[in-house]
Amino acid sequence: MGEWRDVVVVGAGPGGSAAAHYLARRGVDVLLVDKAEFPREKTCGDGLTPRAAAVLHDMGVLDALLRVGRPISGAEIVSPDGYSTGAPVPSQRGVPASMLVVPRITLDNVLRKRAIQSGAQFEGGVLVSGVEAAAGGVVIKAEQAGRPLVIKARLAMLATGASIGLLKRLGLLAKAPAVMLAARAYFDGIRGLTDRIQIRFDGVPLPGYGWIFPVSPSSANVGAGFFPPRWSRRAPASPRAVLDMFLRGRFVSAALDGAHQAGPAKSYPLRVDFPDAPTFGGGMLLVGEAAGLVNPLTGEGIDYALESAQIAAEHAARGLAEGTLSLKRCEEYDRHLRARFGRLFTFCRRVRDASLNATLLNRLARIASGRDDLKMLLINVALGNREVSETLSVATALKKAFALAR
Ligand SMILES: Cc1cc2nc3c(=O)[nH]c(=O)nc-3n(C[C@H](O)[C@H](O)[C@H](O)COP(=O)(O)OP(=O)(O)OC[C@H]3O[C@@H](n4cnc5c(N)ncnc54)[C@H](O)[C@@H]3O)c2cc1C
Repeated sequence: MGEWRDVVVVGAGPGGSAAAHYLARRGVDVLLVDKAEFPREKTCGDGLTPRAAAVLHDMGVLDALLRVGRPISGAEIVSPDGYSTGAPVPSQRGVPASMLVVPRITLDNVLRKRAIQSGAQFEGGVLVSGVEAAAGGVVIKAEQAGRPLVIKARLAMLATGASIGLLKRLGLLAKAPAVMLAARAYFDGIRGLTDRIQIRFDGVPLPGYGWIFPVSPSSANVGAGFFPPRWSRRAPASPRAVLDMFLRGRFVSAALDGAHQAGPAKSYPLRVDFPDAPTFGGGMLLVGEAAGLVNPLTGEGIDYALESAQIAAEHAARGLAEGTLSLKRCEEYDRHLRARFGRLFTFCRRVRDASLNATLLNRLARIASGRDDLKMLLINVALGNREVSETLSVATALKKAFALAR
């Protein structure tokens, strides 16, 4: 790996593999590296939203994923007092399925292989510890099998997820990012699972929620997450304690009666700081969760990792055509991301702060159960669908919800 590469992508999660795919498809020479050997697990709820499905379709992997994953027809939202409202997942023209659940051990490997098939080279077991500016590009310092490794590239893309060690060393994170904390476990032998996902506010601290995402007709990814208060440095509870609380709740313990946990519960933080997060450094573009791109209301981040990868590949290819990744090109990438996601994330953060309280959620769920348009509004917000967030302000959306209730 001593020769110059066009692009080195660090991190082969959805963001990194999609970026490598879109770059390689443009004929760019791209090396994708990850500290892990694949297939590897990633702690996640495994839910793929309509936005994610659209990019996966564009990448040509959605059909294959539908064969190994669980297509989802709708979502149930359950309030703290157990009021339930449900709606079908809105379909998208030209996309064979709008929502699915695919365990990350499978999804990430499919995406990595897609990148390789498109022409990218992959190296596992490469832990990147530094990226330095150099004449004509960057020098990436890494370690593979205990041996130091130096890779030269015209530009780097960092798609390192919520693992912030490298970004901190590079001076790309001045303060600890805002996070959601979450944990999940798989359960097998569940009776009565449907092809709908459940988002539940009963038995979890607010703001936060629990989920039951079916991965097959009888098994599910069950998890819970919460947002530690911004003013407190310490979380009120550990994510696994919150998951235990959720599992012991009246509904979930009844739903899982007779089922067994498959493997340990695992927790991981989610960065939800995109509005304040840097999106580039010298010779580097940040992609996906490395740029804080996780929905601050729902905790979904695969969709934004995929979409930001498409955008990053476009700007990187332009930079390469111009010779180097100039500051102007990096700033254009930043503006592009903020134009695409800025309003959505501000909207979702405000909805989270304004509405994730028990009284409002109980009221919304009760009134929505008899109103199809309100159900659709709630599900579109819950899935981070672009249309709602871009056309309605929070105030309008909430006012609309309460007006419908009268
Ligand atoms: C409990 C939980 C539930 C979630 N549920 C959902 C959900 O249902 N739907 C959804 O859309 N999102 C969900 N998310 C969020 C989602 O998992 C992430 O936002 C998404 O994985 C981000 O993708 P990414 O490609 O940016 O990073 P990642 O998927 O985190 O990939 C980063 C990769 O970089 C590698 N890496 C890191 N540092 C280095 C280094 N120094 N050198 C080399 N390699 C490195 C890692 O090994 C990893 O493979 C959940 C998260 C959690 C924690």
